[in-house]
Order: sequence, then C-alpha cells, then structure tokens
Amino acid sequence: MNLDIISIGDELLIGQTLNTNAFWMSKQLNAIGFAVREQTTIADVEEAILSALETSLSKSDVVLITGGLGPTNDDLTMPTLNKYFGGSLVRDEKVYQHIEKLVTSRGFRMNENNKSQAMVPDNCTVIHNANGTAPGLWFEKGGKVVVAMPGVPYEMKVMVSDQIIPKLKAQFDLPEIINHMVYTQGVPESMLAEQIADWENNLPETIKLAYLPSPGRVKLRLSITGRDRDLLQSKIDHEVEKLEQLISKHIYSEENEDLASVIGEMLLKSNKTIVTAESCTGGYIAHLITRVAGSSAYYKGSVIAYANEVKINDLNVSVNDLDSYGAVSKGVVEQMALGVQQKMDTDYAIATSGIAGPTGGSDEKPVGTVWIAVATPDGVTSKKYLFGKQRDVNIERAAITALGMLQREL
Ligand code: ATP
Ligand code: MG
Repeated sequence: MNLDIISIGDELLIGQTLNTNAFWMSKQLNAIGFAVREQTTIADVEEAILSALETSLSKSDVVLITGGLGPTNDDLTMPTLNKYFGGSLVRDEKVYQHIEKLVTSRGFRMNENNKSQAMVPDNCTVIHNANGTAPGLWFEKGGKVVVAMPGVPYEMKVMVSDQIIPKLKAQFDLPEIINHMVYTQGVPESMLAEQIADWENNLPETIKLAYLPSPGRVKLRLSITGRDRDLLQSKIDHEVEKLEQLISKHIYSEENEDLASVIGEMLLKSNKTIVTAESCTGGYIAHLITRVAGSSAYYKGSVIAYANEVKINDLNVSVNDLDSYGAVSKGVVEQMALGVQQKMDTDYAIATSGIAGPTGGSDEKPVGTVWIAVATPDGVTSKKYLFGKQRDVNIERAAITALGMLQREL
C-alpha cells in the first residue's frame, strides 16, 4: 500500500523551516505498514498543489498533506482541494463552536478569519483539531484517500496519532513491517560490510539490510514486510542471531541508539562510578553523559584539561613526559585517566587528548590524531586513532569512540 506526503509552504522552500512533518509522518506511517513512495515539498501556489496531488493520486493509495490550511490569504490548500474535489464550502457547526471556544478562551473575539475556518468542503469528513483552529479534511475518491492537515507540527501529530492512523488501519488491509536495529560502534562502515559480507549475501530476499553511518557509529537496519508478525519476527531473530555472532564486540545495543545511556544503565546495574578528563573533546563527553537523566547516580564530573598546566596541576601528568612526548601521546593520556580516577575516587575514567584541527598538526601527529584512555579498577588501556580533518566531526568521533571503548570495558 503506497502513501505520498505533500508538504506545502513557502517557508519550507526558502530554508526557513525544516520539514520535520514529512520526517515524522514517514516514520509513523511506515511503522503501520505503508510504503512511503514519495515526499514532495511545494509552494503555497494553487497550480503546484493541483499538480502534486494529481501525480500522487495516480501512484499512491493515500496522500497526506500538511500546511496552508490557515485562514489567511497565503493559505491556499482548502480552496484548492475544494476545487479539485468539486465541493462547495459550508459552515460546520461543530468546527465553528470549537473555534469560538478556543478564540474566546484566549481572550479574543471571533473575527472574519476565524469564522472562515469553519467553512469546510461539503464532500469531506472533518477531522477534529484538538490543539488548533484549522480542522483536518479527509477526502475519498475511487478508493483513495487524501487528508489535509495544518502545518503546525503539534496539531498535525495529535491528528495523525489519534484519528488518521486508526481510520487508515480500519480502511486498508495493511501488511506488518518489522524494522530491527543493530547499533554498532568502533568499526567503519566499509570494514563492517566486509566482516558481514557472507551473511549479507545469504540473507533471504524478504529481508532488506541498510547501513546508516554517523561519526564513530554505524546503525544496521533489518526490515521485513509480510502478513504473519510472529513468522516475520522469527525470521528476523534467526538472522540477527547469526549477525551477533559475527560482530558481537561492536554491537552496543539493539534497542537504544544513545551510547551514553547504554553505558549509564551498565554503570547503574553494577553500581560503579565514572569520571572524565577531556582535552580535545573539551567537555563534550561530559555533555553526552549528563544529557542522560539520572546520570548523577554514576557520573562524578570532569576536568577539562585543555592546557598543559591543568594536566600537570590537576591531573598529576608528568612534566617530563609532556616535554618528551607531547600532550597527544600514550603516556600523557593514560596519566590523565589515572590522575582523574584517583582524584575523584571513581571506578572508571575516560581521557582524551588529540589534535581536533583544522590547524596544529605535524608530520608525526597530523590533524585528527587522538589518543583515548580508559582507566578501570584493573589498570589503564589506551589507543591512538587517526580521524579526519574536520574539527567538529573529530570531536564527535573522539567522544563516541571513547564511550565505545568504555562500554567494551564494562
Ligand atoms: P495555521 O494557519 O492554522 O497555523 P497552517 O496549515 O496554515 O495552519 P502553516 O501556516 O503552513 O500552517 O504553518 C504553521 C506553522 O507550522 C509554521 O510555523 C510553519 O513553519 C510550521 N510548519 C509548516 N509546515 C511544516 C513542516 N512541513 N514541518 C515543520 N513545520 C512546519
Ligand atoms: Mg503556510
């Protein structure tokens, strides 16, 4: 069953508003079994609306439209749809009373714009907008469904979840779709692909595999569509089991994408604590850890040891080693981890020291060189990485990689 999404709004085309509506709707509608065929973004222009609608209706069973439903002159969706479906506008008493209640409760009086929003096409089903004035409009033509909703994200979301999805489920015989995620850290996409090549080549045709990389991580998505949910799940489980055997040490979760919160759960469970000493990541690891609610139970804090004197004075790093090997070195990053672990009396510690760039590199230590150390109750381990040239990406990758190293120690 195909579904199209049409996002209407000049603000989307000039880069003023990010089209989060299409993103969110795709996820919701895909989850209930629709194949989202196309997302189109167009201006508040009658001709553009008519042509997008024509195309979508010729290829998909359901078309969801957002935007341009407001009462002002730049909002053309309602009159255009009315024209397309050949209806006439009539006053809907329930909508009128709802708008009146909303407007007066906000301390305003009903004006012509408000009144005009209660004028709806007589050949559609009105979808109640619990959070705003513009009602949704549900049209049907030749077994196909077109729904227009306001552009305001929180108004649209409530309509979709509470009314559109139940109605679509009742009207269409939808297949089951299972998306199983496997979150990995510490292995680049190309190497991951090599390691699982045989498994991937022998996947049954019904299972689709997608690689979704981001700095330091690769998400794998296995999807399957069909009728019998239990059967689909057992097929996925069977393949996931084989995959786990191949790359177990790279998988940090199959439920939670957020590595910092996966670590948090592990620390909570084992009743252990952690601390950080950050040079090149400048507190970014601390931010990732403290973004997780409840992190105060296991996270003690951070020393942002950016300058050498902080490394020396606050973390007990040896002046000799700094002079002989430089701040971006095995000895220094290990001393940073051990120093902060001891100072703050924790079970674990993470330390980073590197050249984030874009300047500051040398032949021996090019931009992107990062040393990461993890101190545990049993000692300290460290590893050198060579990331890329982009400062913000290097910081992100160093932080995620450090969390991944800790997770493997835990
Ligand atoms: P109303 O006039 O009742 O607010 P509307 O349907 O006319 O509803 P718009 O004027 O198109 O809605 O948009 C209202 C708000 O919603 C704007 O702030 C706009 O930036 C935002 N918005 C519109 N479309 C989208 C979208 N596709 N994704 C995210 N935000 C959107
Ligand atoms: Mg608009």
